[in-house]
Amino acid sequence: MTIAAARSAVAERNMSAQALAESYYDAIHGVDGEIHAYLSICRERALAKAAEIDQLAEQGAPLPPLAGVPVGIKDVMVTRGVRTTAGSKVLENFVPLYDCTAVAKLEAAGAVILGKTNCDEYAMGSSNENSAYGPVRNPRDLARVPGGSSGGSAAAVAAGTAVFALGSDTGGSIRQPASFCGVVGLMPTYGRVSRYGLIAFASSLDHIGPLASSARDAAIVLRTIAGRDPNDATSADVAVPDYEAELEKPVRGKRLGVPREYFGEGLHPEVRSAVEAAIQKLATLGCEIVPVTLPHTSYAIPTYYVVATAEASSNLARYDGVRYGHRAAAARGLTDMYRRTRDEGFGAEVKRRIMLGTYALSAGYYDAYYLKAQKVRTLLASDFEQVFKQVDAIVTPTCPTPAFKLGEKADDPLAMYLADIYTVVADLVGIPGLSVPCGETREGLPVGLQVLGKHFEEATILRLAHAYEQVRDGHA
Ligand code: GLN
Repeated sequence: MTIAAARSAVAERNMSAQALAESYYDAIHGVDGEIHAYLSICRERALAKAAEIDQLAEQGAPLPPLAGVPVGIKDVMVTRGVRTTAGSKVLENFVPLYDCTAVAKLEAAGAVILGKTNCDEYAMGSSNENSAYGPVRNPRDLARVPGGSSGGSAAAVAAGTAVFALGSDTGGSIRQPASFCGVVGLMPTYGRVSRYGLIAFASSLDHIGPLASSARDAAIVLRTIAGRDPNDATSADVAVPDYEAELEKPVRGKRLGVPREYFGEGLHPEVRSAVEAAIQKLATLGCEIVPVTLPHTSYAIPTYYVVATAEASSNLARYDGVRYGHRAAAARGLTDMYRRTRDEGFGAEVKRRIMLGTYALSAGYYDAYYLKAQKVRTLLASDFEQVFKQVDAIVTPTCPTPAFKLGEKADDPLAMYLADIYTVVADLVGIPGLSVPCGETREGLPVGLQVLGKHFEEATILRLAHAYEQVRDGHA
């Protein structure tokens, strides 16, 4: 279901919001045993919200924009009274005392929160195999991963167990699973959406955004969750446009940059041909295709894995067993308690990141790794500044390959990190990006087209994705 379909079913009283929520719970009951997109459901909260909407509808009162729309929330966003695990054993029994701003805004707009979606532990991963609660399976092929770290959110939308879902993107975690599952995923500009209540992975890279079944739905959700929030000092005081209204503006004359570095070694041939065909479709709509170069691209992955791990090692210091989360039972003294708590609580990938980040920040190595990475980050930003003088948006593949098999890269962290090659740069530079489905491989695996935009120009990339969807589906 699209947002519009769900909203009008409820508004026209073809279906009560409560019945709609129940139908989604039936769907979860039916398929989620296999897919495992959800870690918790919050039926009471959902049905209470739905009842509130039904009462408004009965009274003929005006309905809020997401009235009765059933949604999933990645389990890295805190929800008052609803267990929030971040995919980690550390937070297995953690029940937050407040709501993440983005979640509160959705509910205030009438959305019905069905439950919390599965993800890699602390959002660290590209396959959802790092969840302490078991992997998610890709609804398009159950032998394959849904991508990560917002794998549960992408799979729920693809499987029809949520109309849309919120995810988080630190190095591609919205766009990459969107690409693998065949849905739309939008990472807004850094600062566009408040991070208040998002469990921190790497604070200078973390973003909240929607996974949805169309650019239109992503536009509606973004408008709802965006805006300045006094609880997040990095949230931007920039006017939020009506992204849905902007969708219909023409794309003719838009200049689209195609960076040659994104079409090189390692790109799966069927991904390449699907993405090239999509770019051709955009050309038929009157977009001008401009070859461009982003010369520092090859440094993006090493830069990301220094900055992200450094920030993670600092952010994750708080899980010490003192204030909340897991605490080791049999400890001899405080230091032993810290050590055992963290050893028992964290999974292998999280420990790897903490060690890498601590190393990069330690005296004697700081200049060689962390400081150097920050300088390269500036160079990456200047690559984009140059290119955005010539073009309105940049189009690339979202990922070098379609969804891989469960277990295929699980023992090779470096191969896993390379799956993020086209996505991490936008996080480092703070620009918005989205992934829109642009076809399938012969095996029926979805391929994603990535569209990157200028700071705060989500409207432009959403409009391009929307225009592309019309020609892709053949009713332009
Ligand atoms: N796959 C990347 C990582 O493992 C990105 C994760 C993310 O965006 N949260 O760090």
